Amino acid sequence: MFDLNTLLRSNIKALVPYSSARDEFHGEAKVYLDANENSIGSPLLKWYNRYPDPQQQKIKEKISAIKGVSTKQIFIGNGSDECIDLLYRAFCNPGVDNVIICPPTYGMYEVSANINDVELRKAPLLDDFQLNLAHMETLVDEHTKLIWICSPNNPTGNSINMADIEMVLNNFDGIVVVDEAYINFSRQRSLVTLLADYPNLVVMQTLSKAWGLAGLRLGMAFASEEIINVYNKIKPPYNISEAVQELVAKALDNVEDVNEMIKELVKERKRLETELPKLAVVEKVYPSDANFLLVKVVDARGIYEYLLANQIVVRDRSKVLLCEGSLRITVGTARENDELLNALQKFI
Ligand code: PMP
Repeated sequence: MFDLNTLLRSNIKALVPYSSARDEFHGEAKVYLDANENSIGSPLLKWYNRYPDPQQQKIKEKISAIKGVSTKQIFIGNGSDECIDLLYRAFCNPGVDNVIICPPTYGMYEVSANINDVELRKAPLLDDFQLNLAHMETLVDEHTKLIWICSPNNPTGNSINMADIEMVLNNFDGIVVVDEAYINFSRQRSLVTLLADYPNLVVMQTLSKAWGLAGLRLGMAFASEEIINVYNKIKPPYNISEAVQELVAKALDNVEDVNEMIKELVKERKRLETELPKLAVVEKVYPSDANFLLVKVVDARGIYEYLLANQIVVRDRSKVLLCEGSLRITVGTARENDELLNALQKFI
Protein backbone atom coordinates (compact mmCIF):
# COMPACT_ATOMS: atom_id res chain seq x y z
CA MET A 1 0.00 0.00 0.00
CA PHE A 2 1.30 3.45 -0.95
CA ASP A 3 1.51 5.67 2.13
CA LEU A 4 3.22 9.01 1.67
CA ASN A 5 3.77 9.56 5.36
CA THR A 6 5.74 6.37 5.90
CA LEU A 7 7.83 7.05 2.78
CA LEU A 8 8.92 10.51 3.95
CA ARG A 9 12.15 11.03 5.88
CA SER A 10 11.19 11.67 9.50
CA ASN A 11 12.87 15.10 9.63
CA ILE A 12 10.69 16.28 6.72
CA LYS A 13 7.36 15.41 8.32
CA ALA A 14 7.39 18.23 10.88
CA LEU A 15 8.56 20.94 8.49
CA VAL A 16 6.22 23.69 7.34
CA PRO A 17 6.56 25.48 3.98
CA TYR A 18 8.43 28.79 4.10
CA SER A 19 6.13 31.73 4.54
CA SER A 20 7.11 35.39 4.79
CA ALA A 21 5.49 38.28 6.63
CA ARG A 22 4.40 39.44 3.18
CA ASP A 23 2.15 36.39 2.84
CA GLU A 24 0.10 37.71 5.77
CA PHE A 25 -0.66 40.95 3.95
CA HIS A 26 -2.81 40.41 0.91
CA GLY A 27 -2.54 42.89 -1.94
CA GLU A 28 -0.07 45.77 -2.38
CA ALA A 29 1.26 47.36 0.83
CA LYS A 30 2.30 51.01 1.02
CA VAL A 31 5.67 50.26 2.57
CA TYR A 32 7.71 47.05 2.61
CA LEU A 33 10.23 46.90 5.44
CA ASP A 34 9.99 43.20 6.22
CA ALA A 35 12.61 41.39 4.12
CA ASN A 36 15.80 43.46 4.39
CA GLU A 37 15.71 44.27 0.71
CA ASN A 38 17.23 47.46 -0.62
CA SER A 39 14.36 49.92 -0.94
CA ILE A 40 16.34 52.34 -3.11
CA GLY A 41 17.22 49.62 -5.60
CA SER A 42 20.01 49.00 -8.07
CA PRO A 43 20.79 52.16 -10.09
CA LEU A 44 20.66 50.11 -13.28
CA LEU A 45 18.02 47.48 -12.53
CA LYS A 46 15.74 49.21 -10.01
CA TRP A 47 12.77 46.95 -10.58
CA TYR A 48 14.58 43.86 -9.29
CA ASN A 49 15.04 45.09 -5.71
CA ARG A 50 12.24 42.87 -4.34
CA TYR A 51 12.34 39.12 -3.74
CA PRO A 52 10.32 37.14 -6.27
CA ASP A 53 7.04 35.33 -5.54
CA PRO A 54 8.19 32.12 -3.77
CA GLN A 55 5.10 30.27 -5.05
CA GLN A 56 5.38 31.51 -8.66
CA GLN A 57 1.59 31.83 -8.75
CA LYS A 58 1.38 33.67 -12.06
CA ILE A 59 3.32 31.10 -14.06
CA LYS A 60 1.65 28.20 -12.24
CA GLU A 61 -1.71 29.53 -13.42
CA LYS A 62 -0.49 29.61 -17.01
CA ILE A 63 1.05 26.14 -16.79
CA SER A 64 -2.16 24.89 -15.16
CA ALA A 65 -4.20 26.14 -18.14
CA ILE A 66 -1.81 24.60 -20.68
CA LYS A 67 -1.43 21.21 -18.97
CA GLY A 68 -4.92 20.83 -17.49
CA VAL A 69 -3.52 20.31 -13.98
CA SER A 70 -4.52 22.24 -10.85
CA THR A 71 -1.98 24.86 -9.67
CA LYS A 72 -1.77 22.90 -6.40
CA GLN A 73 -0.42 19.93 -8.33
CA ILE A 74 2.49 21.87 -9.82
CA PHE A 75 5.99 22.36 -8.41
CA ILE A 76 8.43 24.60 -10.23
CA GLY A 77 12.14 23.99 -9.90
CA ASN A 78 15.36 25.61 -11.02
CA GLY A 79 15.46 23.17 -13.94
CA SER A 80 14.25 19.56 -13.69
CA ASP A 81 17.57 18.95 -12.02
CA GLU A 82 16.30 20.69 -8.88
CA CYS A 83 13.04 18.69 -9.05
CA ILE A 84 15.17 15.51 -9.12
CA ASP A 85 17.43 16.47 -6.24
CA LEU A 86 14.59 17.55 -3.94
CA LEU A 87 12.91 14.13 -4.29
CA TYR A 88 16.05 12.46 -2.92
CA ARG A 89 16.17 14.93 -0.06
CA ALA A 90 12.50 14.41 0.81
CA PHE A 91 12.34 10.63 0.66
CA CYS A 92 15.76 8.98 0.87
CA ASN A 93 17.55 8.53 4.18
CA PRO A 94 21.27 8.82 3.39
CA GLY A 95 23.11 5.53 3.79
CA VAL A 96 19.86 3.60 4.27
CA ASP A 97 17.45 3.94 1.35
CA ASN A 98 17.83 3.01 -2.31
CA VAL A 99 16.36 3.95 -5.70
CA ILE A 100 16.09 2.12 -9.03
CA ILE A 101 17.18 3.47 -12.39
CA CYS A 102 16.99 1.83 -15.82
CA PRO A 103 20.23 2.51 -17.71
CA PRO A 104 21.13 3.78 -20.17
CA THR A 105 19.30 6.86 -18.95
CA TYR A 106 19.66 10.49 -17.90
CA GLY A 107 22.78 10.98 -15.77
CA MET A 108 21.40 13.23 -13.02
CA TYR A 109 19.42 10.45 -11.32
CA GLU A 110 22.77 8.82 -10.52
CA VAL A 111 24.65 12.05 -9.76
CA SER A 112 21.96 13.18 -7.32
CA ALA A 113 21.88 9.73 -5.68
CA ASN A 114 25.63 9.93 -5.13
CA ILE A 115 25.48 13.47 -3.76
CA ASN A 116 22.75 12.44 -1.33
CA ASP A 117 24.47 9.18 -0.33
CA VAL A 118 21.63 7.04 -1.65
CA GLU A 119 22.21 3.53 -2.98
CA LEU A 120 21.55 3.17 -6.70
CA ARG A 121 20.13 -0.09 -8.04
CA LYS A 122 20.23 -0.67 -11.77
CA ALA A 123 17.76 -2.59 -13.95
CA PRO A 124 19.18 -2.08 -17.44
CA LEU A 125 16.72 -1.65 -20.29
CA LEU A 126 16.16 -4.66 -22.57
CA ASP A 127 17.70 -4.78 -26.05
CA ASP A 128 14.64 -2.99 -27.43
CA PHE A 129 15.20 -0.21 -24.86
CA GLN A 130 12.06 -1.15 -22.92
CA LEU A 131 11.78 -1.81 -19.16
CA ASN A 132 12.97 -5.11 -17.72
CA LEU A 133 10.04 -5.45 -15.32
CA ALA A 134 11.14 -8.84 -13.93
CA HIS A 135 14.58 -7.46 -13.05
CA MET A 136 13.13 -4.30 -11.54
CA GLU A 137 10.90 -6.38 -9.28
CA THR A 138 13.86 -8.32 -7.85
CA LEU A 139 15.59 -5.06 -6.85
CA VAL A 140 12.77 -3.64 -4.76
CA ASP A 141 12.92 -3.95 -0.97
CA GLU A 142 11.47 -2.03 1.96
CA HIS A 143 14.12 0.68 1.53
CA THR A 144 13.35 1.36 -2.15
CA LYS A 145 11.85 4.85 -2.23
CA LEU A 146 11.98 5.98 -5.87
CA ILE A 147 11.91 4.38 -9.32
CA TRP A 148 13.13 6.62 -12.15
CA ILE A 149 11.64 6.13 -15.62
CA CYS A 150 12.65 8.46 -18.43
CA SER A 151 10.19 8.56 -21.34
CA PRO A 152 11.14 9.42 -24.03
CA ASN A 153 14.43 8.12 -22.72
CA ASN A 154 17.74 9.95 -22.96
CA PRO A 155 20.01 8.80 -24.71
CA THR A 156 18.04 6.10 -26.57
CA GLY A 157 15.23 8.41 -27.75
CA ASN A 158 12.36 5.90 -27.49
CA SER A 159 9.23 6.18 -25.37
CA ILE A 160 8.69 3.56 -22.68
CA ASN A 161 5.56 1.44 -23.19
CA MET A 162 2.66 3.00 -21.31
CA ALA A 163 1.39 -0.41 -20.13
CA ASP A 164 4.79 -1.16 -18.55
CA ILE A 165 4.85 2.19 -16.74
CA GLU A 166 1.36 1.51 -15.40
CA MET A 167 2.50 -1.95 -14.30
CA VAL A 168 5.25 -0.31 -12.21
CA LEU A 169 2.81 2.29 -10.83
CA ASN A 170 0.36 -0.46 -9.83
CA ASN A 171 2.92 -2.71 -8.18
CA PHE A 172 5.40 -0.38 -6.47
CA ASP A 173 4.53 1.21 -3.12
CA GLY A 174 7.16 3.93 -3.42
CA ILE A 175 7.21 6.89 -5.79
CA VAL A 176 7.47 6.40 -9.55
CA VAL A 177 9.02 9.40 -11.27
CA VAL A 178 8.37 9.63 -14.99
CA ASP A 179 10.72 12.16 -16.58
CA GLU A 180 8.97 13.57 -19.63
CA ALA A 181 11.61 16.16 -20.59
CA TYR A 182 11.09 15.28 -24.28
CA ILE A 183 7.33 14.54 -24.24
CA ASN A 184 6.37 17.32 -26.68
CA PHE A 185 8.37 15.62 -29.43
CA SER A 186 6.76 12.23 -28.73
CA ARG A 187 3.95 10.29 -30.36
CA GLN A 188 3.04 8.97 -26.92
CA ARG A 189 0.76 10.99 -24.65
CA SER A 190 1.84 12.46 -21.33
CA LEU A 191 1.12 10.61 -18.08
CA VAL A 192 -0.12 13.87 -16.57
CA THR A 193 -3.65 12.70 -17.38
CA LEU A 194 -3.14 9.73 -15.02
CA LEU A 195 -2.26 11.77 -11.92
CA ALA A 196 -5.71 11.27 -10.43
CA ASP A 197 -5.34 7.48 -10.76
CA TYR A 198 -1.89 7.15 -9.17
CA PRO A 199 -1.04 8.88 -5.86
CA ASN A 200 2.53 7.57 -6.23
CA LEU A 201 3.17 9.24 -9.62
CA VAL A 202 5.44 12.24 -10.19
CA VAL A 203 5.66 13.51 -13.78
CA MET A 204 8.55 15.83 -14.59
CA GLN A 205 8.71 18.18 -17.56
CA THR A 206 10.93 21.13 -18.47
CA LEU A 207 11.00 24.31 -20.54
CA SER A 208 14.55 23.40 -21.65
CA LYS A 209 13.62 21.28 -24.67
CA ALA A 210 10.38 21.86 -26.60
CA TRP A 211 9.99 25.39 -25.26
CA GLY A 212 13.56 26.30 -26.21
CA LEU A 213 14.37 27.93 -22.84
CA ALA A 214 17.25 25.88 -21.41
CA GLY A 215 19.04 29.09 -20.42
CA LEU A 216 16.23 30.19 -18.11
CA ARG A 217 16.30 27.00 -15.96
CA LEU A 218 12.70 26.05 -15.37
CA GLY A 219 11.59 22.52 -14.59
CA MET A 220 8.17 21.28 -13.51
CA ALA A 221 6.97 18.41 -11.37
CA PHE A 222 3.30 17.39 -11.51
CA ALA A 223 1.94 15.20 -8.71
CA SER A 224 -0.75 14.87 -6.05
CA GLU A 225 -1.28 17.92 -3.80
CA GLU A 226 0.28 15.91 -0.96
CA ILE A 227 3.53 15.33 -2.84
CA ILE A 228 3.62 18.96 -4.02
CA ASN A 229 3.23 20.03 -0.38
CA VAL A 230 6.34 18.00 0.41
CA TYR A 231 8.22 19.81 -2.35
CA ASN A 232 7.04 23.14 -0.95
CA LYS A 233 8.30 22.25 2.52
CA ILE A 234 11.87 21.71 1.37
CA LYS A 235 12.39 23.99 -1.61
CA PRO A 236 14.65 27.03 -1.27
CA PRO A 237 12.16 29.91 -0.82
CA TYR A 238 13.21 31.95 -3.84
CA ASN A 239 14.32 29.24 -6.26
CA ILE A 240 12.94 30.95 -9.38
CA SER A 241 14.22 34.49 -9.96
CA GLU A 242 11.96 37.44 -10.77
CA ALA A 243 13.64 37.82 -14.18
CA VAL A 244 12.92 34.19 -15.04
CA GLN A 245 9.33 34.41 -13.78
CA GLU A 246 8.69 37.47 -15.97
CA LEU A 247 10.26 35.94 -19.08
CA VAL A 248 8.54 32.59 -18.62
CA ALA A 249 5.15 34.26 -18.09
CA LYS A 250 5.64 35.88 -21.50
CA ALA A 251 6.82 32.70 -23.19
CA LEU A 252 3.86 30.70 -21.87
CA ASP A 253 1.44 33.02 -23.72
CA ASN A 254 2.84 31.80 -27.00
CA VAL A 255 1.76 28.15 -27.21
CA GLU A 256 0.77 28.22 -30.90
CA ASP A 257 4.16 29.44 -32.10
CA VAL A 258 5.91 26.91 -29.86
CA ASN A 259 3.80 24.12 -31.36
CA GLU A 260 4.83 25.27 -34.85
CA MET A 261 8.49 25.23 -33.81
CA ILE A 262 8.09 21.70 -32.38
CA LYS A 263 6.55 20.58 -35.69
CA GLU A 264 9.55 22.00 -37.52
CA LEU A 265 12.00 20.13 -35.27
CA VAL A 266 10.04 16.87 -35.66
CA LYS A 267 10.12 17.36 -39.43
CA GLU A 268 13.89 17.82 -39.25
CA ARG A 269 14.18 14.70 -37.07
CA LYS A 270 12.33 12.75 -39.73
CA ARG A 271 14.60 14.14 -42.42
CA LEU A 272 17.69 13.05 -40.47
CA GLU A 273 16.08 9.64 -39.86
CA THR A 274 15.78 9.30 -43.65
CA GLU A 275 19.09 10.85 -44.70
CA LEU A 276 21.53 9.50 -42.08
CA PRO A 277 21.08 5.80 -43.00
CA LYS A 278 22.05 6.64 -46.60
CA LEU A 279 25.56 7.56 -45.44
CA ALA A 280 28.36 4.97 -45.57
CA VAL A 281 29.45 5.69 -41.98
CA VAL A 282 26.00 5.11 -40.46
CA GLU A 283 25.07 1.60 -39.38
CA LYS A 284 21.79 2.27 -37.61
CA VAL A 285 19.53 5.15 -36.62
CA TYR A 286 17.34 4.21 -33.67
CA PRO A 287 13.71 5.41 -33.80
CA SER A 288 13.26 8.57 -31.75
CA ASP A 289 10.40 10.29 -29.94
CA ALA A 290 12.72 13.09 -28.82
CA ASN A 291 14.71 15.98 -30.33
CA PHE A 292 17.81 13.84 -30.77
CA LEU A 293 18.84 10.61 -32.46
CA LEU A 294 20.98 7.75 -31.25
CA VAL A 295 23.08 6.83 -34.26
CA LYS A 296 25.30 3.76 -34.53
CA VAL A 297 28.31 4.52 -36.72
CA VAL A 298 31.34 2.62 -38.03
CA ASP A 299 33.89 4.38 -35.82
CA ALA A 300 32.18 6.40 -33.09
CA ARG A 301 35.29 7.95 -31.52
CA GLY A 302 36.86 8.71 -34.88
CA ILE A 303 33.72 10.34 -36.24
CA TYR A 304 33.17 12.25 -33.01
CA GLU A 305 36.67 13.71 -33.25
CA TYR A 306 36.35 14.36 -36.98
CA LEU A 307 33.11 16.30 -36.37
CA LEU A 308 34.78 18.27 -33.56
CA ALA A 309 37.60 19.18 -35.94
CA ASN A 310 34.86 20.46 -38.26
CA GLN A 311 33.36 22.52 -35.44
CA ILE A 312 30.36 20.23 -35.04
CA VAL A 313 29.82 19.00 -31.49
CA VAL A 314 27.79 15.83 -30.89
CA ARG A 315 27.76 13.49 -27.88
CA ASP A 316 29.89 10.35 -27.88
CA ARG A 317 27.84 7.65 -26.13
CA SER A 318 29.95 4.75 -27.41
CA LYS A 319 31.06 3.69 -23.92
CA VAL A 320 27.51 3.67 -22.57
CA LEU A 321 25.70 0.39 -21.92
CA LEU A 322 23.54 -0.68 -24.93
CA CYS A 323 24.75 2.36 -26.89
CA GLU A 324 28.11 0.88 -27.86
CA GLY A 325 29.47 2.47 -31.04
CA SER A 326 26.82 5.20 -31.01
CA LEU A 327 26.67 8.97 -31.06
CA ARG A 328 23.79 11.00 -29.68
CA ILE A 329 22.99 13.78 -32.10
CA THR A 330 20.61 16.63 -31.30
CA VAL A 331 18.28 17.68 -34.12
CA GLY A 332 19.38 21.17 -35.13
CA THR A 333 18.02 23.76 -37.53
CA ALA A 334 17.72 22.71 -41.19
CA ARG A 335 21.03 24.48 -41.88
CA GLU A 336 22.83 22.85 -38.96
CA ASN A 337 21.53 19.45 -40.00
CA ASP A 338 22.78 20.08 -43.55
CA GLU A 339 26.22 20.90 -42.11
CA LEU A 340 26.17 17.63 -40.17
CA LEU A 341 25.07 15.55 -43.19
CA ASN A 342 27.68 17.20 -45.44
CA ALA A 343 30.48 16.61 -42.96
CA LEU A 344 29.50 12.96 -42.44
CA GLN A 345 29.28 12.47 -46.22
CA LYS A 346 32.92 13.55 -46.51
CA PHE A 347 34.28 11.31 -43.71
CA ILE A 348 36.79 8.78 -44.94
N1 PMP B 1 15.61 15.11 -17.89
C1 PMP B 1 16.17 14.62 -19.00
C2 PMP B 1 15.76 13.28 -19.49
C3 PMP B 1 17.12 15.36 -19.70
O1 PMP B 1 17.69 14.84 -20.79
C4 PMP B 1 17.48 16.63 -19.21
C5 PMP B 1 18.51 17.51 -19.89
N2 PMP B 1 19.39 16.99 -20.73
C6 PMP B 1 16.88 17.09 -18.06
C7 PMP B 1 15.95 16.31 -17.42
C8 PMP B 1 17.29 18.40 -17.45
O2 PMP B 1 16.33 19.34 -17.63
P1 PMP B 1 16.51 20.81 -17.04
O3 PMP B 1 17.21 21.60 -18.07
O4 PMP B 1 15.09 21.24 -16.82
O5 PMP B 1 17.27 20.70 -15.75
